[in-house]
Amino acid sequence: MFQGLSDKLQETFKKLKGKGILKEADVNEAMREVRVALLEADVNFKVVKDFVAKVKERCIGQDVLESLSPAQQVIKIVHEEMIDLMGGATGKILVAPKPPTVILLLGLQGAGKTTHAAKLANMLKKQGKHPLLVACDIYRPAAIKQLEVLGEQIKVPVFSMGQEPPADIALASLKHAYQNGQDVVIIDTAGRLHINEELMDELRAIKTTVKPHEILLVVDAMTGQDAVNVAESFHKEIGLDGVILTKLDGDTRGGAALSIKAVTGCTIKFAGTGEKMDALEPFHPDRMASRILG
Ligand code: GDP
Repeated sequence: MFQGLSDKLQETFKKLKGKGILKEADVNEAMREVRVALLEADVNFKVVKDFVAKVKERCIGQDVLESLSPAQQVIKIVHEEMIDLMGGATGKILVAPKPPTVILLLGLQGAGKTTHAAKLANMLKKQGKHPLLVACDIYRPAAIKQLEVLGEQIKVPVFSMGQEPPADIALASLKHAYQNGQDVVIIDTAGRLHINEELMDELRAIKTTVKPHEILLVVDAMTGQDAVNVAESFHKEIGLDGVILTKLDGDTRGGAALSIKAVTGCTIKFAGTGEKMDALEPFHPDRMASRILG
């Protein structure tokens, strides 16, 4: 994960450490390299510009340049600003005061929605909750089947009503959960290849009908800035409470992880790190930054 970015930044910092005393010009040169590394990792252009300006401003102060280990100070500042870039609460689901807690999952086709609906159910089950998975992707019979197979695997019930309107299915699922003692309802919705009005109308109808406590967008980290654009559109059209960033186990460059919060204001709450049911982690900006900086 983020190997290219990680290697480039480590190379830059190695050079800095080798210098001992730092001059302003050394910091400027290092920041130029940081800028290139971030852009190559597909981080949003404006995010990179603001990030480098902030780090530079803090690094060029007398305190840093005249400190005993200026290179360490620069690295520390980059680390702190990187955490800030991705920052916010991690891995927490808002629990409704009166059950069931309703979680609505959105996203484009292939992002990992169905897989992550099940992973989330699995995680909540391990925390002592009684989740219900709800199949609202009515366009692909295979999607309902996929959710049923995953539900079976993790021993979580799946609610489906075939091709009925998704908002009706979602509403009926709440009643079903209430009657069966299920305290969390996780609604898997249909995706599309691209964002379109029909999809947004359908999601708005579900949102209005069931008033979710958490609306989470599932986006594929491998798609870089496209993931950021998708998050921006969904947030504007529907309103998001957080993001699940998937496929972080793949060869992602880091652009999505480092840009989503800064561009959209939405926190990345969870990270998907594989196809298995336990490959879901709370997203920790500090750990992520440490991983990137090595
Ligand atoms: P949906 O169309 O958004 O519901 O996407 P799916 O849940 O069907 O996932 C699409 C594909 O991505 C499937 O083959 C999943 O196994 C795979 N997938 C989902 N999440 C992850 C992940 O975190 N890592 C990896 N490597 N594959 C994933």
